[in-house]
Amino acid sequence: MAYLDANATEPLRPEARAAVLEALDLVGNPASVHASGRAARRVLEAARSAVALRFGADPGAVVFTSGGTEANAFAIAALRAGRRVVIGATEHDAVRAAAPDAVVLPVDGDGVADLDALARLLAEGPALICLMWANNETGTIQPVEAAAALCRQHGALLHVDAVQAAGRIPVRLVGDSMALSSHKLGGPKGAGALLLGPGIDAAPLIAGGGQERGRRGGTPALPAIAGFAAAAQAALPDAAALRDAVEAAALACGAVVLGGAHRLPNTSCLALPGVRADTQVIALDLAGVQVSAGAACSSGKVAASHVLTAMGCGVLAGQAIRVSLPWNAAGADVVAFNRAYSDMAARLGKRAA
Ligand code: PLP
Repeated sequence: MAYLDANATEPLRPEARAAVLEALDLVGNPASVHASGRAARRVLEAARSAVALRFGADPGAVVFTSGGTEANAFAIAALRAGRRVVIGATEHDAVRAAAPDAVVLPVDGDGVADLDALARLLAEGPALICLMWANNETGTIQPVEAAAALCRQHGALLHVDAVQAAGRIPVRLVGDSMALSSHKLGGPKGAGALLLGPGIDAAPLIAGGGQERGRRGGTPALPAIAGFAAAAQAALPDAAALRDAVEAAALACGAVVLGGAHRLPNTSCLALPGVRADTQVIALDLAGVQVSAGAACSSGKVAASHVLTAMGCGVLAGQAIRVSLPWNAAGADVVAFNRAYSDMAARLGKRAA
């Protein structure tokens, strides 16, 4: 089997596995004052420092969460007070659901946010802008530094969803808050973090026993957090060579690559004209290659992805699959993909023509 669905979740890194196993044996609650509690606390604070160092934040400004969804919801709830929320048109559902009343910032045909439109929106009054660093379906990288500069000029706040970018391209805290997820960079599922910028505080989304400096109630999931920190330290920016080989093979079969040139080095969004995305996913799965659809499929109906629709992809929005190479992808995975994809394109592409 070739697992090419890293943007759904990355395989666990060995460093993360070792850290999880070690932390599982710690009996103490990090909030307890006795020796076992203090031992757990040391692991928690070491993980906090490691995540802070890796992503350019102050350790006191790292709030551990259950993952990227919670980190995004927390940021929006905490930072929006009295501000209009503006979100990029291709944001993840975690952001869309946390700000259903948001104004939508348009993107161009490559999925890149329109900064002129952002400047106009910023001139209209106090705002919280939510812009993802890289898109989960296409890998398109957003101009987050330029957006941060614009936000600063206008006194607006910027929240960045860096869930798919962290560990794959160089990422440092940009703007006023940034969401991270452990399982997207090779850590275990069930941990993530919100990093807060200088001068930013956040009232808790989940109140409770005062954990995380009063910003997030609940006993921290220490094994998952320890694994997250180990994965964050181990994750190095990906090289694009394998992804480029995947794309070259797909292009030779008549596919169209969506999402522009400035993309994550592990992600390809490939439309095969005339062939439904779910049909492609099933055909590839039967051939031992696991990818996902750029379109969500429910009760037999294919709903075109909001990301590709916002990019103006038309019917191709329902005919695109996402190939996302994990950190441990090898040449053999690309060979398996190329064989399965060309067989599929020869069979289904001909039928569609
Ligand atoms: N943001 C983006 C861009 C994502 O791709 C995802 C997950 O797919 C999330 C947020 C949610 O992260 P988690 O699965 O850790 O809740």
